[in-house]
Amino acid sequence: GVRWGLIGASTIARQFMINAIRAQADGEVAAVMSSSSERAQAYARENGIPAAVSTLDALLGSDVDAVYISTTNELHREQGLAAIKAGKHVLCEKPLALTSADARSMVAAAKKAGIVFGTNHHLRNAGAHRAMREAIAAGRIGRPIAARVFHSVYLPENLQGWRIARPEAGGGVVLDITVHDADTLRFVLGDDPVEISAFTQSAGMAGGGLEDGAMCIWRFKSGVIAQSHEGFTTKFAGTGFEVHGSEGSLIATNVMTQKPVGSVLLRTASGEEELTFDREDLYTRSLRQFHAAIRGEGQPSATGEDGIWSLASAEAALQSSKAGKAVTIDPQL
Ligand code: NDP
Repeated sequence: GVRWGLIGASTIARQFMINAIRAQADGEVAAVMSSSSERAQAYARENGIPAAVSTLDALLGSDVDAVYISTTNELHREQGLAAIKAGKHVLCEKPLALTSADARSMVAAAKKAGIVFGTNHHLRNAGAHRAMREAIAAGRIGRPIAARVFHSVYLPENLQGWRIARPEAGGGVVLDITVHDADTLRFVLGDDPVEISAFTQSAGMAGGGLEDGAMCIWRFKSGVIAQSHEGFTTKFAGTGFEVHGSEGSLIATNVMTQKPVGSVLLRTASGEEELTFDREDLYTRSLRQFHAAIRGEGQPSATGEDGIWSLASAEAALQSSKAGKAVTIDPQL
């Protein structure tokens, strides 16, 4: 079996990841670490976790095989490096760190230590996105020309904390959501971005100089151009993902989400077709691939390199917004 230690008593672990671990035949949540021992104990009690600890050393010294890091973003780097040093497999939340250079140091350390390292980009695991990737790879829209990503949401009240108030914790919509759009575009298109231009805004929710909305224009290696919209402040926008090609268009609705929902329409000269796809829980699938990788079968669904790519993209978007010009995306891989 795989004994997991949770680093961070977080909402995402409570809502999705604990279930995803327990959905594996060989997955067990052995311990949780919070910076506060009261919070660790309460969280362990509420989620049926046998051990609660309040230091990283205690967690890494305990009998766990793998850790899931879902603390605030500024902590991922040091916690990730310590876990790697302790020989634990690491599934780390996005963004992997606050800078792509730091993310590279984590991925390099993991490689050297020979442990499995993954980034929790859940959207690659969505049936909708896999169906789009397969349709494109099979040539069903001809040559991809342009993509449009609609990923502006309303940040739920219970999450209106560090994301909109603490720049030092890696807040802001770009590190939160643009990273997902970068990864999903790469995955669906099977292509890498080379350049980005971004406008960001503070539309009334985020403080401390943080952005709560962004619009980005991307250029990919193949010549595909894309636009993406990320936001925390739009209650009624809905989400979507479109790829338009020389022979057809893929139009997915309600797919930039944590749940296995939404629809994908393929429109070509022969008419419209609703693509069918599996509705497996995204995080459960991610964990399954991670467990397989531990057994030496394949890679996590999103690797450390994928996490470097998404962070390098977000970093370039922030630089672009500040500088008022397009910026090259270079993950230095
Ligand atoms: P939370 O705000 O729920 O948790 C982050 C940290 O905040 C926790 O580690 C905890 O610290 C602290 N915290 C939580 N509740 C309290 C409280 N009541 N009082 C004081 N501190 C508290 O964050 P999220 O779960 O939303 O996000 C965590 C990470 O996961 C981020 O890196 C985020 O980017 C990522 N994420 C990824 C998603 C995905 O689908 N891939 C979705 C959502 C988030 P401590 O552990 O010390 O108790």
